[in-house]
Amino acid sequence: MTRRLTSKQIRRMIEAPNLFLMLDCDGTLAPLARHYEKAVFPKRTRSILGRIQSLPDSNIAIISGRELAGIRKFAGMRGLIYAGNHGLEIKAGAEKWIHPGAKRALRLMKQLAFVLRGLLEYFPKAGLEDKRFGLSLHYRLLSRDRAEMLLFAVRSAVQPFVKAHRVSIQKGKKVLELRPYVNWNKGSAVRWLLKKYYRGKEVLPVFIGDDETDEKAFRAVARGISIRVGRSAETCADFFVGSHREVQNLLRRILSGREARSRG
Ligand SMILES: [Mg+2]
Repeated sequence: MTRRLTSKQIRRMIEAPNLFLMLDCDGTLAPLARHYEKAVFPKRTRSILGRIQSLPDSNIAIISGRELAGIRKFAGMRGLIYAGNHGLEIKAGAEKWIHPGAKRALRLMKQLAFVLRGLLEYFPKAGLEDKRFGLSLHYRLLSRDRAEMLLFAVRSAVQPFVKAHRVSIQKGKKVLELRPYVNWNKGSAVRWLLKKYYRGKEVLPVFIGDDETDEKAFRAVARGISIRVGRSAETCADFFVGSHREVQNLLRRILSGREARSRG
């Protein structure tokens, strides 16, 4: 059962000797926009995150479905860990890692982008986000009928590649994600990061996210704290908060608690 986040859990986050905050971006840190390109990263959240990151024993990773370069630009902070394309590309310090299967799929994704752009000429209100290692088809602005038509057309066009295990499809909030067929997701990225930074060390891992693609990441922090933004009956997160505003509030409480703690 998912419960509303309790003060006991917030205390755990404040008092943990090492805190690793892993955060989804859109819908979690930034409000969802009617058009993804119009989304705005709240200034206040940026300043809180920057201050948490600068504390000793606190580390922040933003793990997003956006492409790596896009999420870094959107969040606009240095010194954080970023994972783009649901973890297929990770920038941690000076090191940049790309999933080998994603690299191999680069050409196919390019071809699919071309095909989808052709389809979208008939659906001017839909948008294609070309993320190199993945494609997001945004259809928030379409009527229900038109959206169904579009999804049918896209699924038909992509079907042969899905069958051949070269592409996988996942639905998010008014977005259809086409990804290389690799056994890798936000949960794998979480495990990869935990191993890289905290192997053999005591750490409290926390993951906060708002969408289907975050569910695997919730499972990957089973020893820590998983928080879903927005109430959902179908989540495996232990806790929920109401909105991205509540996430900002939570981050502010973590910041002041850990600041006080580090002052001793
Ligand atoms: Mg999200």
